[in-house]
Amino acid sequence: MITPLAWIQDELDALKESGLYNRIRTLSSPQGAWLVVDGKKVLNFCSNNYLGLANHPKVVQAAKEAMEKYGVGPAAVRTIAGTMDLHVELEKRLADFKGVEAAITFQSGFNANLATIPALVGKDDVIFSDELNHASIIDGCRLSGAKIVRYNHCDPQDLDKAMFEERRQHPRALVVTDGVFSMDGDIAPLDRIYEVAKKHEAILMVDDAHGEGVLGRGGRGIVDHYQLHGKVDIEVGTLSKAFGVVGGVVAGNSLIVEWLRQRGRPFLFSSAMTVPDTAACLASLELLESSTELVDRLWENTRFFKEEMRKAGFDLGRSVTPITPVMLGEAPLAQEFSKSLFEEGVFAMAIGFPTVPRGKARIRVMISAAHQKEDLERGLEIFVKVGQKLKVI
Ligand SMILES: *Cc1c(COP(=O)(O)O)cnc(C)c1O
Repeated sequence: MITPLAWIQDELDALKESGLYNRIRTLSSPQGAWLVVDGKKVLNFCSNNYLGLANHPKVVQAAKEAMEKYGVGPAAVRTIAGTMDLHVELEKRLADFKGVEAAITFQSGFNANLATIPALVGKDDVIFSDELNHASIIDGCRLSGAKIVRYNHCDPQDLDKAMFEERRQHPRALVVTDGVFSMDGDIAPLDRIYEVAKKHEAILMVDDAHGEGVLGRGGRGIVDHYQLHGKVDIEVGTLSKAFGVVGGVVAGNSLIVEWLRQRGRPFLFSSAMTVPDTAACLASLELLESSTELVDRLWENTRFFKEEMRKAGFDLGRSVTPITPVMLGEAPLAQEFSKSLFEEGVFAMAIGFPTVPRGKARIRVMISAAHQKEDLERGLEIFVKVGQKLKVI
């Protein structure tokens, strides 16, 4: 008998056949340069723990102390009884760090996008969105009901052309782009995008999830990297990557932040970041503000690893950041590569469609300040060994 759910098995089988099925590994150790995965000690090349803060003793200690004082849960949505002084302090400190008027936190970066885009544009309006934007931007755009115009990846000229054709037919316009593109590691030309957005009188929003803690002075992000202070209306960020915890943030103009407190649906209808998360983020922020050592080490590690990988003959695509895609082409090859790496003691995931276009499957290596030089050397050795075995290099 065919049940109403039978199609799911068919779809899952199809995913397995095409090498696109997600096999999820289970960790039984903290995040760090090395992990215990399925009982095996492996070198960690896949986390977004850019600065090694996910298990930093000061961050852990701050979470513990806050729990002693405030307990664990916020117990309500922010507008009812879920805003604690910790949340307010974190938002103020994040705004100061970014050099903007105000900031508002969410449960995740994904939620920050879902909150922000529909609060700013509606069905009569238009959004200009980079064709490779993150899924949470795409979903936020769809939720808004606005017309969505995709422009060519990192192409301000194409954006200008699209805005020239569409802008006047809509009362409001939003231009939205990832800051650092998470699968390729390239950086949006935000300075030129700003000029185009300004010319066509649009709101400008950047999702800096992979730029915070990485780009700019002491990891202040892409706006700082381009010296565009006061020119970008909204910086969306995550507290789950370089910050090492979990949560999302929108930083920028105080009017927008005030509006999101009134109209951001994940803010109004979902509970706040928990107490330990909030306190841990405050501690991460303090570490970022106190020294650039971790950010500097992240870049040193990145330069070393990428240079050696290129010398060995690997194609790293267009990356200019610690995100290091090792381009392999077909998804089954990427999966086999990842499996061989794991057998040799390196944990680096294969990424295929729909996260990246078909035929552009890759292994994505994430470099961290937590890596020692010996760790990177060990990783390089194994990459070369597997690359030769599978005739990639
Ligand atoms: C990771 C990421 C997100 C989601 O962040 P979470 O805090 O993990 O929900 C959003 N946007 C971009 C560009 C990302 O890379």
